[in-house]
Amino acid sequence: MPQVCVEQGLPLNEQTLSMRLERVAAHVPAGARLADIGSDHGYLPVALMRRGVIAAAVAGEVALTPFRSAERTVRENDLHDHITVRQANGLAAIKPDDGITVITVCGMGGETIRDILASGKAHLSGTERLILQPNGGEQPLRQWLMDNGYRILFEEILRENRFDYEIIVAERATAVTYTDQELYFGPLQMQARSPAFLSKWQRKLRHKQNTLSQLARAQKALPEGTVQDVARQAQWISELLTSTAAPSPRPLPLLSSRQPCRSKACPRRRQQAQHRHVRDTAFASKLGSYRVWFEHCAGSGDTGSIERDSH
Ligand code: SAM
Repeated sequence: MPQVCVEQGLPLNEQTLSMRLERVAAHVPAGARLADIGSDHGYLPVALMRRGVIAAAVAGEVALTPFRSAERTVRENDLHDHITVRQANGLAAIKPDDGITVITVCGMGGETIRDILASGKAHLSGTERLILQPNGGEQPLRQWLMDNGYRILFEEILRENRFDYEIIVAERATAVTYTDQELYFGPLQMQARSPAFLSKWQRKLRHKQNTLSQLARAQKALPEGTVQDVARQAQWISELLTSTAAPSPRPLPLLSSRQPCRSKACPRRRQQAQHRHVRDTAFASKLGSYRVWFEHCAGSGDTGSIERDSH
């Protein structure tokens, strides 16, 4: 009987994976020996085995109820000779004899995935492909990958049921250094600038701007660095979206609550939306100060000097 995944509202099972798990599955090479850590219902390894993609699998689960659910899925598909279900914490589900070539860790926060990899390092041979699907927290996860000699081979963003999901595929390689922005946005995604990537960061920017507005209105003292962190991220996103590498899927309504420029001297007055956008970015990079950026984003009123500054 198909289980209904409440999050998706769709009957998903070992035959009909979510789009998110389908995209993860697409990165599993034919003939792989898979360890699916945090397997829950076990849909991913069972689907891949049913399709003849993988040679063997371990489904690891730390919690009893999903562990039993994975056991049931394997049993109902008569795959217990090919898929071993183990109740274990993280990579402890993997035994040396398993000969694992691919590890998937999906549907958890990026920090949780990082911690699973970090605490389970002894179970890694270093030759496995990692296919990771963090729900947020991508930056610390990429940081761990870089610090531990992994190169990101492929990245993808997809939107499903109003959530943005990232998929990161990495393998051990010669040392690679990513910049802070590459760790934040994803080095390959920054280059590819897919419509899904740009849409995600447009949404994120609006969210950060709202946060800055709320912080500006907050009466209580804020923890040291909070505003600076949000403002720096907003500035990075703004710079990312205004760089000219590829067209945006739709106009960039940055700081759209602000009025269009009314200066008669403005040479780009006819292109108001574009101009407002450029002006905001120029302002941010020129002044650099988080406080001014903060006031600007928060629309706290002192925009006259901002407009003069940027002309
Ligand atoms: N991987 C599946 C997917 O992407 O649809 C299930 C995701 S579910 C939201 C996360 C699962 O990871 C839960 O079943 C949870 O019990 C399991 N989990 C969390 N931490 C874990 C750990 N340290 N070791 C093994 N499983 C873990």
